Amino acid sequence: MSLANAPIPLTTVLIANRGEIACRVIRTARRLGLKSVAVYSDADALAYHVREADEAIRIGPAAARESYLNVEAVIAAARRTGASAIHPGYGFLSENAAFVAACDEAGIAFVGPPASAIAAMGDKSAAKARMEAAGVPLVPGYHGDDQDDAVLKAEADRIGYPVLLKASAGGGGKGMRVVEHGEAFQAALEGCRRESQAAFNDQRMLIEKYLTQPRHVEVQVFCDSHGRGVYLFERDCSVQRRHQKVLEEAPAPGMNEELRREMGEAAVRAAREIGYVGAGTVEFLLNVDGSFYFMEMNTRLQVEHPVTEMITGEDLVEWQLRVAAGLPLPRNQDELAIGGHAFEARLYAEDPEQDFLPATGHLERFGLDLAGAGLSAASVRLDSGVEAGDEVSMHYDPMLAKLIVHGHDRDQALATLNRALAALDVSGVTTNRAFLQRLASHPAFKKAELTTRFIEHHGEELF
Ligand code: ADP
Repeated sequence: MSLANAPIPLTTVLIANRGEIACRVIRTARRLGLKSVAVYSDADALAYHVREADEAIRIGPAAARESYLNVEAVIAAARRTGASAIHPGYGFLSENAAFVAACDEAGIAFVGPPASAIAAMGDKSAAKARMEAAGVPLVPGYHGDDQDDAVLKAEADRIGYPVLLKASAGGGGKGMRVVEHGEAFQAALEGCRRESQAAFNDQRMLIEKYLTQPRHVEVQVFCDSHGRGVYLFERDCSVQRRHQKVLEEAPAPGMNEELRREMGEAAVRAAREIGYVGAGTVEFLLNVDGSFYFMEMNTRLQVEHPVTEMITGEDLVEWQLRVAAGLPLPRNQDELAIGGHAFEARLYAEDPEQDFLPATGHLERFGLDLAGAGLSAASVRLDSGVEAGDEVSMHYDPMLAKLIVHGHDRDQALATLNRALAALDVSGVTTNRAFLQRLASHPAFKKAELTTRFIEHHGEELF
């Protein structure tokens, strides 16, 4: 069915984002016959996503606060261009409940969950209380309202060290500290509160048992506005640097069918509990013994969604647009299956030699000659936010592109990833490519010895 004839007719979609995700959304919009509108800041007047869209509107100066995070400017651009929907991408306004409310008020379909679902997951402590009620397993810990120093200390003692102090309002790895023993608790608490106050204007803390060798395994869920929900299996995102993902894969190595179903069903339960609609990701920590614990739900399309697309053959942006148009999910759970294995590597403009300092400059060359490297377009995908000749500025996230590969099995996919990384033709701006190559060719990674401390443990061979 054409989206123009859907219950909520969609003809024009505005993409309130930039870089690779804006370009990626534009591609699917075009395939579905929708007109795409890009928005841009002064720093992005000549950017790739602006060139790719059918129409582009300036929304403000370079500072994100005044452009990509400017609710009024984005809504005004949608009004001016007659956009019937806004796709927020990830980051920026994608998890901003006030922005969703502003879209509702303007009669524009927000391509994402209702404001209430975003709000329910926005606060880590409140989200945990909801998940506990829905029977989703939580890391042993404390997420109560009583924030008295003595109460928190007693809870940490009860949980048993090491514990992890986390800001309730936190995100992006900020306001988080491991406490190894009771004597270190008070100082860590004060440090965490200060950091959380500065970053989130909020001092509430929660405490979790600190798992020493967990894996980060997350489940892709999808719900429609007709009360149906499915899971599109899991991704392993254990390879992280400072709690930021670097290499992702799907499916998670070593999962058995029973655990996969258990985690998938828990994730759908979590989404249903909060009246979720659209694409969402439920993040779990997975222990060696197969126990898993809810960490948080990301109420948006994730950076790493392409590995899920590669193993399921589904286009998640198409699903998002259909759901936003009021249509039912395109598939039932029993129509979804895993085919092969996929990896994603995040290519950043940054210098691993200089503590990963973001790099800028004129991108002289950028591309991937598939045929020259003996690779097929079916097994390699480069989701890029830049082209050769572009300027890389210091204003935004330094991710240039994502390299996504698919193979019949993990070994084959990993071999393809290594070949594709080597074939990537990039010059003019320093990137983390060599670091990604060392990671992807590391014997422990090949053996799928994954934990969230992989980079820390193998640091010497990687840097
Ligand atoms: P943020 O919202 O700031 O990203 P998360 O709660 O998602 O914080 O945690 C980020 C990362 O920190 C996880 O992916 C995991 O690597 C690590 N982590 C979080 N909670 C625990 C825990 N209880 N034990 C061990 N590692 C944890």
